[in-house]
Amino acid sequence: MSFTLAIVGRPNVGKSTLFNRLVGKKLALVDDQPGVTRDLREGEARLGDLRFTVIDTAGLEDATDDSLQGRMRRLTERAVDMADVCLFMIDARAGVTPTDLIFAEILRKRSAHVILAANKGEGSAADAGVIEAYSLGLGEPIRLSAEHGEGMNDLFVQLLPVE
Ligand code: GDP
Ligand code: MG
Repeated sequence: MSFTLAIVGRPNVGKSTLFNRLVGKKLALVDDQPGVTRDLREGEARLGDLRFTVIDTAGLEDATDDSLQGRMRRLTERAVDMADVCLFMIDARAGVTPTDLIFAEILRKRSAHVILAANKGEGSAADAGVIEAYSLGLGEPIRLSAEHGEGMNDLFVQLLPVE
């Protein structure tokens, strides 16, 4: 049995970095620049002996623009509906933001199976944000560093029951 994991969350938290790490190729776009065309991206992921499909979501560069926010919402909903499980990513260095709360609400409304990840988790600058992540009411956050490959074992453990 295989499954589909959708990585969702606001821009710049590190979704594509995790996608690239799971897929092992530069299929997803990683950048700091606003305005790059983005969509849904699918890849075949490997983590330990797990093989699954992973979807990278994107679509919001400017949280103050209503149309972009709508686009982000639609893309996220599409990804959630395609997926068996969602990895909801926040930036542990930034803590929980108002935009994160919008995503949490989308996931709740769609009754998605959610794994919560606090990314950019390397170093003590992330400590407060990891603790804040509990306030989302989505369970215990995985402390991840997608860039440095930390916490991948904890992600693996959370995905085992999905398979
Ligand atoms: P996305 O918009 O959510 O897809 O985010 P990206 O994957 O494009 O990453 C946005 C920025 O965060 C890039 O500069 C990444 O290098 C950086 N980033 C991603 N993961 C980490 C991490 O674990 N730690 C740190 N410090 N930076 C990260
Ligand atoms: Mg991205």
